[in-house]
Amino acid sequence: SLTIGIVGLPNVGKSTMFNALTRNNVLAENYPFATIEPNTGIVPLPDKRLPVLADLVHTEKIVPATVTFVDIAGIVKGASEGEGLGNKFLANIREADAICEVVRAFNDDDIVHVNGKIDPADDIETINTELMLADLQTIENALPKLEKDLRGKKVDAGYVDAVRKAQSILEAGETIDHAAAAGKIDKADVYDLHLMTAKPFIYVFNVDDNELADEEMKKRLADSVAPAQSIFLNAQFESDLTDLDENDAREMLADAGLEESGLDQLARVGFDVLGLQTFLTAGVKEVRAWQIHQGWTAPQAAGVIHSDFERGFIKADIVSYDDFVAAKGSMTEIKEEGKLRQEGRDYVMQDGDIVEFKFNV
Ligand code: GDP
Repeated sequence: SLTIGIVGLPNVGKSTMFNALTRNNVLAENYPFATIEPNTGIVPLPDKRLPVLADLVHTEKIVPATVTFVDIAGIVKGASEGEGLGNKFLANIREADAICEVVRAFNDDDIVHVNGKIDPADDIETINTELMLADLQTIENALPKLEKDLRGKKVDAGYVDAVRKAQSILEAGETIDHAAAAGKIDKADVYDLHLMTAKPFIYVFNVDDNELADEEMKKRLADSVAPAQSIFLNAQFESDLTDLDENDAREMLADAGLEESGLDQLARVGFDVLGLQTFLTAGVKEVRAWQIHQGWTAPQAAGVIHSDFERGFIKADIVSYDDFVAAKGSMTEIKEEGKLRQEGRDYVMQDGDIVEFKFNV
């Protein structure tokens, strides 16, 4: 499954956040969660629709979609040259499908900052520089053979051009993710290189409570990494939240003026940048959010439930979540109101589709 690698300088709150993530079953008591390896956390994708559906169809069992996070050892200056845990760090990050960069903004004199001062922009530059240098190395290693193949007409000239373009973007100090968002390069053109900075980035600013309320500062930080997504959270607060039961956690969130925990936000944004979406099934056995890629068709979605469903696909009976709730889950009413859609092979799945697949065995 797709994973999000958590990176950042030492002492910025990565472990605090990761440990809280793997305990993040507050506000979602029924959500199962699991840890496969010590540095891998599978967390539920928060979805307020699921308990509503479970109520309507009278089931206890809710199965949410999940998001997988991998805690990657701290990066330091010089990682791209093998400093510190450099090589291991880079190998781990290559395996991730998106990058969650944790940046320290909180002030606490008791906790040493590796660079001696709190400077989010400088920290981001330190980390991204290491990633960009590693990508440049990848390109420099690949180019001699590509140029030889080009002379021998064994490789497409357009591909070599795209690789050189990526090189000049990185040399100018810009990540491929950032340049692609600005339309300067198409990530698909250099996909074969598996560049680290071509992965989608999410920035998590670990802030203290005062900063969390400082809209001006948050905007400044968000703008500094846009169009990449940013999330503001207090890792210590998030960690405290996960120690509470559901009601106390809700109260503590409300007291802090928050509607949703930072970790829930992170799971949602992470799921989205991975290019994933869900569709829903609702029956007496269970209510479930199934994970698919954005843009998948009905037969592809059916295949996630069972390969037979995809092979023998006939059609999908679909009602939207809103229509389902409006009819209080009554299929009779849904049909009478003409809200049950029959979709065929080419139908592209939409968020909030509640589905029953019809298939031949
Ligand atoms: P890592 O090296 O990035 O994994 O950082 P840790 O999660 O180990 O955190 C380093 C230190 O900072 C620990 O003593 C944490 O308790 C503390 N810390 C983490 N997050 C926060 C925060 O939001 N506020 C404050 N004041 N301290 C924090």
